[in-house]
Amino acid sequence: MSLPSLLNRRHFIRQLSVGTTVALALQPRLRAQASAPTRKLGVVLAGLGNYARGELLPALKETQHCRLAGVVTGSAEKGRTWAREHGFPEKNVWHYDTMAQMASADDVDLVYVVTPNSLHAEHTVRAAGAGKHVICEKPMAVSVAECDTMIAACKKAGRTLSIGYRLHYDPYHQELIRLARTRELGPFMKMTGGFGFRMGKKVWRAEHALAGGGPMMDVGIYAVHEACLAAQADPIAVTAKERPKTRPEIFVDVEESLDWTMEFANGARAELFTSYNEGLNQFRAEAAQGWIQIGPPAFSYRGLKGATHLGPLQYPPLRQQAVHLDAIARSILERTELPTPAALGRRDMVIIEAIYEAARTGRRVPVKA
Ligand code: NAD
Repeated sequence: MSLPSLLNRRHFIRQLSVGTTVALALQPRLRAQASAPTRKLGVVLAGLGNYARGELLPALKETQHCRLAGVVTGSAEKGRTWAREHGFPEKNVWHYDTMAQMASADDVDLVYVVTPNSLHAEHTVRAAGAGKHVICEKPMAVSVAECDTMIAACKKAGRTLSIGYRLHYDPYHQELIRLARTRELGPFMKMTGGFGFRMGKKVWRAEHALAGGGPMMDVGIYAVHEACLAAQADPIAVTAKERPKTRPEIFVDVEESLDWTMEFANGARAELFTSYNEGLNQFRAEAAQGWIQIGPPAFSYRGLKGATHLGPLQYPPLRQQAVHLDAIARSILERTELPTPAALGRRDMVIIEAIYEAARTGRRVPVKA
């Protein structure tokens, strides 16, 4: 057998075994059979926008260890409709201002905060104050100081705080993590890519008061997080440069597009990009003996693609959010380490604050994550 076909065969066999391992690790039904937690967690969705309605609601219906137990919404009528349509009691419809009343709802264990970024801290603190565990969407908050407040509130309440980093459970990203951890190809020294799309009209995501920044806070954060996974380390310094705005009337007080670099202690370097003007959705990590590329698309909910120097990667589809919810639910029910804890969300905010400082000052900014 020629070397390339031998390599391809090995790659195929490895992929099969990795695929099987990942599929087993991520397959809730199989895991549930192995040791089933005794009950399902009652989950309240706080914020009924696009992500809650389009992704988390269907995901909750597929989970083994969660059930939709209520909602927090600004519209009581919308809440009652959700209660009727999705089978939870109307008493479990709360307004953002009445979240404290959740304390008396014994059928609620966890609140999933899916509101605009600058409200994450307030809603997380209220959920913890009502004695509930919390999953908070990315970005965890709009400042490191807010992250600290959220962590302190959950600690005081004796409840867990996880972040909605759904890609931790996706097999393409699991393969990147595996290669980074085993150093099978050597350490990843060069990372490139990013996440961006063209925003058609002004929405809250382009308002500093609600979003805390522009595309960096929304989609750039995926590339920040992935670079740390590839390096298996936090960066020691960053540089950044904002590109000139092509539509300043939309991006009044936030960046429209941003290039940044992340330097790691071992000499590894990431060169990344985010934008609300240009499409990009891929990530590549290179080592001395090979590389892995995820995407395009790399960071989407479904339809991901990937390849290594040995050829294409292919994994069966899965609903990232369902696996994500089940993994967190299991760790709460079994009191094991959280898969995507608040510390990761805080670490990313530390890096993002440094990136914004670098863009503002034009300086290389040390990162103390
Ligand atoms: P959205 O605009 O569709 O929904 C936001 C919800 O918050 C709406 O129901 C809105 O009514 C409610 N809300 C409460 N108070 C508000 C206020 N003062 N101003 C505006 N809205 C208010 O947004 P979305 O796309 O669902 O995003 C919500 C959060 O989820 C964001 O933090 C976003 O970053 C995150 N998100 C994560 C992913 C992921 O893949 N992990 C994907 C999409 C969104």
